[in-house]
Amino acid sequence: MSEDGAGAGSPGRAAELAEGLRAVRQRVADAEAAAGRAAGSVLLVVVTKTFPASDVRLLAASGAGDVGESREPEAGLKAAACADLGLRWHQVGQVQTNKAAAVAAWADVVHSVDRPRLVAALERGHRRALEEGARPEGHVLDVLVQVDLADDDERDPGRGGAAPRDVAGLADAVAAAGGLRLAGVMAVAPAGVDPRGPFERLAQVAARVRAQHPGADAVSAGMSGDLEAAVAAGATHVRVGRAVLGARPPIV
Ligand SMILES: *Cc1c(COP(=O)(O)O)cnc(C)c1O
Repeated sequence: MSEDGAGAGSPGRAAELAEGLRAVRQRVADAEAAAGRAAGSVLLVVVTKTFPASDVRLLAASGAGDVGESREPEAGLKAAACADLGLRWHQVGQVQTNKAAAVAAWADVVHSVDRPRLVAALERGHRRALEEGARPEGHVLDVLVQVDLADDDERDPGRGGAAPRDVAGLADAVAAAGGLRLAGVMAVAPAGVDPRGPFERLAQVAARVRAQHPGADAVSAGMSGDLEAAVAAGATHVRVGRAVLGARPPIV
């Protein structure tokens, strides 16, 4: 096995990741129970950004089925190195328009669509990936509209997300795009505030989207620090990195 992350990793790492996965699954199960929700109603996406492909391989061996990535070219290279594992790949971070085609060639779900130009770029990139055989015939890219839950005067363009008032238009654009399926909405709770309020606002935005697009029932919210609050507010997907894999080297 090669050094680029296709190897099995150390035995210690295997045990560490298995324990991290077990502990987070238990947190999700406890949160489901506390919220009176059915066991298994929340999907755990393990966010492996900055960690090697060997970790993804160990996580898959421990039963992880969904992994999240954030940055090109790291994400595409890792997905290619792990193509034999049958995982579902999620793009959870910001997508630059000029990277949309690269993302469409490996991602099964894009959580972070927040502007019309990105919808168009993903549609084009996905069509090309189909034409070039990078995606199997009939492959559909699931897309979530990312919502910025910060107050209007505290909106940080760097963190991404559309203002709540722009979500309906974006959802319509995704639903109308060929090869894309509107799956729902996503958000990152603003830093430094109790996440319960923001996650309740996300649930309201999600309900409005669902009223217009009945199949778009995904609500992606909750990370290592706030997954319980997200599950209590109705999240269907949590995106968890550090609580499974440990501290992450800073992304530069
Ligand atoms: C990195 C990242 C996560 C995972 O964050 P942790 O704090 O490591 O759980 C979730 N969502 C997005 C959008 C991310 O960029």
